[in-house]
Amino acid sequence: MTSNDGAKLGENGVQFEHDAARPLASGVGFTAQRTGVRDGLIVLVFLALIAAGLFASLRPLTGFLVNRIPVAVDASLGEKLGALQRASGHVIEDARTAQVRELVQRDVLPYLGAVSDSSDAPLGLPRITVLDDAAVNAFALPGGEIFVLRGLLDAPAMNDDALVGVLAHEVAHALRRHAMRGLVRQHLLQLAAATLVGGLDAGTVTLVGGGLTLGDLAYDRSMEAEADEVAGLVLLAGHRPTEPLAKFLEEIDTMAAVPALVLNHPPGHERAARLRAMSASR
Ligand SMILES: [Zn+2]
Repeated sequence: MTSNDGAKLGENGVQFEHDAARPLASGVGFTAQRTGVRDGLIVLVFLALIAAGLFASLRPLTGFLVNRIPVAVDASLGEKLGALQRASGHVIEDARTAQVRELVQRDVLPYLGAVSDSSDAPLGLPRITVLDDAAVNAFALPGGEIFVLRGLLDAPAMNDDALVGVLAHEVAHALRRHAMRGLVRQHLLQLAAATLVGGLDAGTVTLVGGGLTLGDLAYDRSMEAEADEVAGLVLLAGHRPTEPLAKFLEEIDTMAAVPALVLNHPPGHERAARLRAMSASR
């Protein structure tokens, strides 16, 4: 250390002591403090506005990206997941499987035209698989394949009308590309960057969804409400009552073990109330 350095340190030291000695409550110090608080608030408001802007643009941005992804990608992801499910479970091929297929073909698909728009995935006759599993559950894969678990068919409040409603709800998830929307939202930045450089193609999406498992198919509450609305419209269009589905949704709310069917879904009584309101407004 040179003597010059020492002199500088000395100067700094004096200056520091001088600052420290300045009374905190002096006019200058108080103004500085207030300015600091005000600046902090401005930064907070600014950050909150950015967060609100990002949140508000999440949905349209997701929609924009999903619309640029060919629907064939949904089918390809769904096929992989479907093959895994069929390989890991016991597939039932009996009269009840045939009945589920008939209900989808006769009582769900013909009424989808009235609820579809251009951003929906065009669905053909989906593959339908019934698994020998006691869980009260059904789910649709991207692309449209539907899995129904035996426990759903055995549920006490289940009948044809309620089953048509549940099947229409599942078909609606595939129709509205909810799995793809969830996937895009999870990987929004990656896929948005790929779009900007013109690299968003089926390969990019398949790469992103390559390690996809059934547990990654996360639907939010707005998606569930949308699927319930489609179910209600399909039932009403087919002149079927919505009450059996409403009763079934209320019943599964009371089951000791929470059925997989209602995980991440709004409470059954809320869903039942919305269905009844739809039916009453007709
Ligand atoms: Zn659902």
